Amino acid sequence: MTTLSFEFFPTKTDEGTEKLLKVRDELAAFNPEFFSVTYGAGGSTRDRTYAIVKAIQERGIAAAPHLSCVGDSTADLRSILKEYQDLGIDRIVALRGDLPSGSGLANSELRFANELVEFIRNETGDHFKLEVAAYPEMHPQATNFEQDLQNFVNKVKAGADSAITQYFFNADSYFYFVDRVQAMGVDIPIIPGIMPITNYSKLARFSDSCGAEIPRWIRKQLEAYGDNSESIQQFGEDVITDMCRRLLDGGAPGIHFYTLNQSEASLRVWRNLV
Ligand code: FAD
Repeated sequence: MTTLSFEFFPTKTDEGTEKLLKVRDELAAFNPEFFSVTYGAGGSTRDRTYAIVKAIQERGIAAAPHLSCVGDSTADLRSILKEYQDLGIDRIVALRGDLPSGSGLANSELRFANELVEFIRNETGDHFKLEVAAYPEMHPQATNFEQDLQNFVNKVKAGADSAITQYFFNADSYFYFVDRVQAMGVDIPIIPGIMPITNYSKLARFSDSCGAEIPRWIRKQLEAYGDNSESIQQFGEDVITDMCRRLLDGGAPGIHFYTLNQSEASLRVWRNLV
């Protein structure tokens, strides 16, 4: 069975939340396995993440809060886990997180995602299904690809049930990553994280910071469209649909959409696939 999930980020205003709840309802019609909601490292969105998670859960769909460990004390993490257990949440996306530059990792009790996975397992046993992040094109701060693969394997061994990848535009990087970690003993599902293409300048900025490569042929085409957003969206839909089809045909167990709190672009791709 192909799984489907959608990612949101917590909104800042009541108006934004109202819009997001409409998006939630549009996407809910496609029976996703869960909606995940990001978390600002150091607890910066703690209450807002919780509020959106609650609003999703109330609609009768599973919500998976993201939780990161850098900048949060273990006491804070323990109390967040308790809040989510009380709310009936049974899935968490467990991450290291990214603190603003300059803050460093030095003061964090837990410094890497494998330590957070271990902490959650020690605190709550098997209550939560734990998702972790995977980087087919290598994490941007990793010292080298082999070490990054080993660090991923360590996270899985610490107790992760499933993984979601950083987005990418090259299906081969996904297949290579999966082959390599499977050869190292990993047997959990690794779900491709998919970023629909809707706006070139934002995508380029974001991709630089998270280490996702936009292939030259895609970049050049998007640049050539300039402000023609209709052409960008049509091209984006075609490129992403083709890539998703290849991923699913090649054995990817599902698709996780980075929605950026919009329904349209993800749904256009998903409808082409089913
Ligand atoms: P880790 O797995 O800990 O890896 C981080 C880096 O450290 C890697 O380079 C790894 O190779 C290295 N490493 C791992 N273990 C060790 C070790 N023991 N010793 C030395 N080096 C090690 N960020 C947020 O702030 N909030 C979110 O909600 C959020 N959601 C995300 C969802 C997904 C699906 C993805 C892919 C990313 C998300 N991020 C989020 C971004 C993520 O927090 C950053 O990419 C962060 O830099 C790494 O997080 P991680 O959990 O992959 O860390």
